[in-house]
Amino acid sequence: MNAMVKAEGVHKSYGAVQVLKGIDLEVAPREVFCLIGPSGSGKSTFLRCINHLEKVNAGRLYVDGELVGYRQKGDRLYELKDSEVARNRRDIGMVFQRFNLFPHMTALANVMEAPIQVKGETKAVARERAMKLLDRVGLADKAGNYPSQLSGGQQQRVAIARALAMEPKLMLFDEPTSALDPELVGDVLDVMRGLAEDGMTMIVVTHEMGFAREVGDSVVFMDQGVVVESGNPRDVLTNPQHDRTKAFLSKVL
Ligand code: ADP
Ligand code: MG
Repeated sequence: MNAMVKAEGVHKSYGAVQVLKGIDLEVAPREVFCLIGPSGSGKSTFLRCINHLEKVNAGRLYVDGELVGYRQKGDRLYELKDSEVARNRRDIGMVFQRFNLFPHMTALANVMEAPIQVKGETKAVARERAMKLLDRVGLADKAGNYPSQLSGGQQQRVAIARALAMEPKLMLFDEPTSALDPELVGDVLDVMRGLAEDGMTMIVVTHEMGFAREVGDSVVFMDQGVVVESGNPRDVLTNPQHDRTKAFLSKVL
């Protein structure tokens, strides 16, 4: 089976600062892949590379069998045009720590926006799907609310619905619950659990070790731009092999 995401020796630097120092990993279709590690270890940078927000400096990164950001001809690589990058990005949904909904639009309009603007969908079709998605994240009754009239957890669930509206084949979550009050975290994790049960391929950067253990199919511990340890969440989280993993887990568990 083809990997949904495959990284081979992925390097990324900002100027002289090396952030990713050779990441190798594979995410299978329908897998829930949790990425953990201390702040500054390169987790967000790696997601941004997958989502075409950054270009890798060396190594190869593939999404669904296609090289990210480049086209290969013979043994030469050519950078993709912006229009080609935009087309590839459509298939990847991303949810950030900050929900960044459009503040002047209702929840419903936020979820309808991309399919209309990017795919040229009709309002009727976009509205029908958006209502289904709001229902799926438990917010059908808040469709007419503006972001300022929603809690952080509700806004984050709208952000998930908005990402799903583009019918992505891969969802990236970058600490989706880190900015939430503790009592609002559970509802967001429940939505993510539901997505996982429906077979969505997900890469989740999180400090929620309970989620990683219960929902994750694999977990990768990253530190200082390298993968230190990876495997089944129950093994890695309960029986870490490396000192750096042990030290990290002793702080977050
Ligand atoms: P994490 O998400 O694991 O906390 P990041 O990927 O955000 O880590 O950051 C990894 C390192 O890369 C940090 O040292 C950060 O300062 C650096 N970094 C991230 N983005 C940039 C940027 N645009 N320019 C320069 N340095 C950056
Ligand atoms: Mg980060």
